[in-house]
Amino acid sequence: MPITTLFFDLDDTLYSHTAGLWEAIRVRMDVYMHERMGIDWGEIPALRRSYFETYGTTLRGLQNHLHVDPQDFLAYVHDLPLKEYLQPDPSLREMLLSLPQKCWIFTNADSAHAARVLAVLELQDCFDGVIDVNALEFIPKPDPEAYMRALRIAGTQGDQAMIFDDALRNLLPAKQLGFTTVMVGPNHSTEADYHLAKLVELPEMIPGLWNSHPVYSRQGKHGK
Ligand SMILES: [Mg+2]
Repeated sequence: MPITTLFFDLDDTLYSHTAGLWEAIRVRMDVYMHERMGIDWGEIPALRRSYFETYGTTLRGLQNHLHVDPQDFLAYVHDLPLKEYLQPDPSLREMLLSLPQKCWIFTNADSAHAARVLAVLELQDCFDGVIDVNALEFIPKPDPEAYMRALRIAGTQGDQAMIFDDALRNLLPAKQLGFTTVMVGPNHSTEADYHLAKLVELPEMIPGLWNSHPVYSRQGKHGK
């Protein structure tokens, strides 16, 4: 099956983990849990770890156990000066625009955060759409339901899809559904099909993506 659709994680995948943004988001999650929810500082690390391991995200744990307002939480934790963390990379933009496949953002964050990150990275017009935690109806990666929903939204199936993520745990359920998996960042795993230290290595590592499928005419991406 030719690969027709690419799903890209956002944080620590479109930009380097060394940017420090994801770490800053994590700190704001802690502050939110303490200041808005009254949880003792001392309890927060274990609680976060347990929610992350059990549910995939801190938010889902807070929703299930403490009935947090998800929109308030998402707005708070992502309220950061992105330009202090991120810079555009023209070579990444050029590479993404040259891809013949449909390209989606597939993130456990919300679309407001995704839009701001894409704007700062100057990648707004490089994707066909954003599948965010609202579109996932708050069932995030790595829940298999998240991937099935993403496939439905993108109108494709697992064996025609490739997924890019910095977290192995977010790739494994996709692999079960037939996706080709690409781990991005400093960590390696033999369980992923491919590994890229940085996304811009894609043409060198998987050159076949550029000759496997005709270029779509897509609004936004190639339509302007
Ligand atoms: Mg990530």
